[in-house]
Amino acid sequence: MPMGVRGMRPRLPAPPSLQQSSPYVTIGLLVREVKVALDKRQLYRLPWSMNDNPIAWLEITDICNLHCEGCYRQRLTGHKTLEEIREEILFLKRWRNPDNVSIAGGEPLIHPDIVEIVAFIAEQGIKPVILSNGVALEPLLLRELKGAGLSGFTLHVDSHQGRAEFPGASEADLNPLREQYAAMVADVGGMITVFNSTVYPSTYREIPDVVRWGNAHLDIVQGLVFITYRIAATDSQTGVDTTAHEVDISKLSYATESFDEEFVTGPEVVQSIHECLPAYEPAAYLGGTLRHDSFKWIAGAVVGSDGEVYGSVGARTMEVAQAGHHFFRRTYLAYLNQPTIGAKVFLMAPWDRTVRRAAKNWLRAVIKSPKRLFRPIRLQSYGIIQAPDIQADGRADMCDSCPDMTYYDGKLINSCRMDEYRLFGGLLSVVDRAKMATEREAVPEGGPEA
Ligand code: SF4
Repeated sequence: MPMGVRGMRPRLPAPPSLQQSSPYVTIGLLVREVKVALDKRQLYRLPWSMNDNPIAWLEITDICNLHCEGCYRQRLTGHKTLEEIREEILFLKRWRNPDNVSIAGGEPLIHPDIVEIVAFIAEQGIKPVILSNGVALEPLLLRELKGAGLSGFTLHVDSHQGRAEFPGASEADLNPLREQYAAMVADVGGMITVFNSTVYPSTYREIPDVVRWGNAHLDIVQGLVFITYRIAATDSQTGVDTTAHEVDISKLSYATESFDEEFVTGPEVVQSIHECLPAYEPAAYLGGTLRHDSFKWIAGAVVGSDGEVYGSVGARTMEVAQAGHHFFRRTYLAYLNQPTIGAKVFLMAPWDRTVRRAAKNWLRAVIKSPKRLFRPIRLQSYGIIQAPDIQADGRADMCDSCPDMTYYDGKLINSCRMDEYRLFGGLLSVVDRAKMATEREAVPEGGPEA
């Protein structure tokens, strides 16, 4: 049986952070109805910044054993040396003040020094978290990584990765693979497992299949992350570098010949999760660097036990978690070390009405089935990331206080756009081909002063 939210399903009123909205978004022949709009005043704006951010992004290789459609990286340089990587870790420790280092790539598990890298990060008092597609996961390596101090994994599994053993698979078809990976990590113990997937216009309607599966495995799945797909289309767009010269953006992995579907937005993902899991409410956000109305990161967490979700944590709890962690540990918080939080989360009920609702639902469940009193209360986090959106002037609306900044050539840059630095020496503007041609025609031969 698909295991969704079993037993009591709390019937929650529309949360204050979700307000009624209206329009329709058309994707090809499908029509997505946007019913809810997020209200920034009801959410906590995460206090992260460039120099004080819980996440530092470390890329140790650009070699991978899969070819995901939504990938931002291509193979240009191969594995970095252990010496280079140690220097980058020390740079990130100094300039990011991170709580965790996200070890990324490429596929980090295929780097020959992965265990030493994890150990070096842990020695710095920082939580190492590996971002992997899971293909190279195996019990012996897992035990070595755990011994080296690994905190956990964010495992990327979705239906556009070209996994040879899953041709034509849907998101639901991949749940057994997710389960296999999560069980393998849980068997070794002491590490968290979060799953992320890229959301394409064609897979938007499959989000509930992943959410219901995640809810049924609160014991081994500590979080779900949905990243909305973005790509540039070379038939209608072209790139301009920092010296105003046109460049060939087809060299980037995030450019394709043509793409005319409507990109999925973060608030739409919130709506999809909320529709299949009414107990879910978002609690915190990061806005955009250009647009006042964008939601680039949307964070939240549900509270439950035994496959039953009681409710969510609200903005107040997020605020206390961030401020408290910074007060006592001097860093902000992105990943919990401890997947089982216990009933202490309900101590926030007097100040957080979202937690209050969850506590009431838990009490009702305990009255109905007293053995629930002794079941561990677990948190499952929900992250939604809306990748960079190109604006009419060619600039991209990025995540304000980007949590995924990485080291490149002596500076911090947005990791999602590193290939623009590697291939073209800096960030590009992506502009409309037709508009650029019209502007060029308007300039008289010999330049504007001729
Ligand atoms: S701007 Fe930063 S956080 Fe946002 S998608 Fe890019 S790398 Fe990730």
